[in-house]
Amino acid sequence: MKEIQRTIKYEADRVPGFGREVMSVPGCEKLKDCIQCGTCSGVCPLSIYMDHSPRQVMALVREDFKREVLSSCTIWLCASCYACTVECPQQIRITDIMYELKQRAIQEGFYPKRFPIPVLAQEFNRMVHDHGRISEGRLVTKLFLKTKPLEAAGMAGLGMRLMKTGRFSLKQENIRDRGDLARIMEAMDAPASGGNGKD
Ligand code: SF4
Ligand code: SF4
Repeated sequence: MKEIQRTIKYEADRVPGFGREVMSVPGCEKLKDCIQCGTCSGVCPLSIYMDHSPRQVMALVREDFKREVLSSCTIWLCASCYACTVECPQQIRITDIMYELKQRAIQEGFYPKRFPIPVLAQEFNRMVHDHGRISEGRLVTKLFLKTKPLEAAGMAGLGMRLMKTGRFSLKQENIRDRGDLARIMEAMDAPASGGNGKD
């Protein structure tokens, strides 16, 4: 079991408004009702590997400790099993809050350096966005180069041998009409016009 680290929190580390911003996202509103009972941490199958337990993450968000939350491994270790959400006595959608925090961490580049999960998520997303399809060989290679460059160099020989036998490829695959994909992505990225977005 990992050693629990206790650190002193300072007022200066807070980013006022961060918690309110997260709680304004649909699905995350009930975070304000957290009673810090710890049920989420107790049922989470991964909490022993996390640097902050789910309960601590909820408290840190509410108290505006943005950097600490967004650079935490916890949000990336969350396996989206929903056990915490099902058991929370306050019906707080903890899993959805974890998703929201992951998204913010990627957007703001806060994630732990060389930690593979956010890099994988980002590269996966970029590949789908640009090509409409995942090319596994390229994805794995990029992941290794960005997180374990020395190990990647050591595996170059194996990669070459697999390529020769056709069992590994760096070829980028694309869907047939990438123009359609670009139009869909543009429509998704465009800010909604009119309406209150609540229909
Ligand atoms: S189970 Fe719900 S109320 Fe209890 S600490 Fe976790 S989020 Fe807060
Ligand atoms: S959804 Fe995530 S935080 Fe909640 S119990 Fe599962 S792994 Fe833990």
